[in-house]
Amino acid sequence: MLVMMNKDATQGQIDRVIRKIKDLGYSTHVLPGAVRVAIAVTGNDRAVRIENLETFEGVLEVVSVTKPYKLVGREFKPENTVVDVGGVKIGGDGLVVIAGPCSVESREQILTIAELVKKAGAHLLRGGAFKPRSSPYSFQGLKEEGLKYLAEARERTGLPIVTEVMGPDTVAMVSEYADVLQIGARNMQNYTLLEQVGRTKKPVLLKRGMSATIKELLLAAEYILSEGNYQVILCERGIRTFETALRNTFDVGAFPIVKQLSHLPILADPSHASGERSKVAPLARAAIAAGADGLIIEVHDHPEQALCDGPQSLLPEQFRDLMADTDRVGHAIGRRLHDIITQPVRP
Ligand code: PEP
Ligand code: MN
Repeated sequence: MLVMMNKDATQGQIDRVIRKIKDLGYSTHVLPGAVRVAIAVTGNDRAVRIENLETFEGVLEVVSVTKPYKLVGREFKPENTVVDVGGVKIGGDGLVVIAGPCSVESREQILTIAELVKKAGAHLLRGGAFKPRSSPYSFQGLKEEGLKYLAEARERTGLPIVTEVMGPDTVAMVSEYADVLQIGARNMQNYTLLEQVGRTKKPVLLKRGMSATIKELLLAAEYILSEGNYQVILCERGIRTFETALRNTFDVGAFPIVKQLSHLPILADPSHASGERSKVAPLARAAIAAGADGLIIEVHDHPEQALCDGPQSLLPEQFRDLMADTDRVGHAIGRRLHDIITQPVRP
């Protein structure tokens, strides 16, 4: 249920409505909108009926929310959410590009690639320090050492960093370094982890699980918002289907559907969707045309030596071309690349 307040409702009136809802044992989530405050009521399995709430002063109307996710839905917040990461606005008019290697392999490697992607116009730097690998014998990441190298790369380039957090036990540590906490596809339904990142103040990049429906993706995001963290960026990275020609099947339909159902921004990850360098740009262009708010792209200067995901990593010059393509395709649908932010950022 959603309580829409009048646009000139006072704080006292808002507080009285919240008190009434809480007295009945429900939870409230207040979201200040551009025009008016909306109060979502959660904590109920069945439809809530709160008698006479319409008659409280300052209340415009009480509407029932028809979707299982409440806070991530457009019913709760009709206007787009824009997540601000060090001045880079994800979900605004500008298209945002995150780029970097799959994983941080060494200090030299991440510093070199950070400079290269920065020069090509990337807005944020990616790189995994904690790597979820299908095999326990594969490279698992440099862990805290990798986070330190990422922080140094940020210091040098001014690019905010996006890096994966794999478990609830490392949320505090990764949050000390990261500007955006990435939740990987394999962890999309790790509810303890979702709750933990929901209690931080860090923006979260939530990747769609490889067998998750769009509804499940939105419900996973709901876990994070319901803990009070509204800075969530969704990411379509391909799903498993009967088709095996590429690493995954890129669900380009997810962009218009998510945009219709939710106010949250959504990025495309054509690197993990395709698994092949030559297919990254076509999928990226399709995603932008379909309404993605930007891209997350794996880039490596020596992909043949990469410890993880070399075959899908773009060479720096290919990444430069993709940046130009992104701007061109964006232009066709009334969007351009986000401006380059030059100020250094602090976590
Ligand atoms: C990654 O971004 O390197 C990664 C592991 O992605 P995903 O969780 O989408 O597989
Ligand atoms: Mn990867």
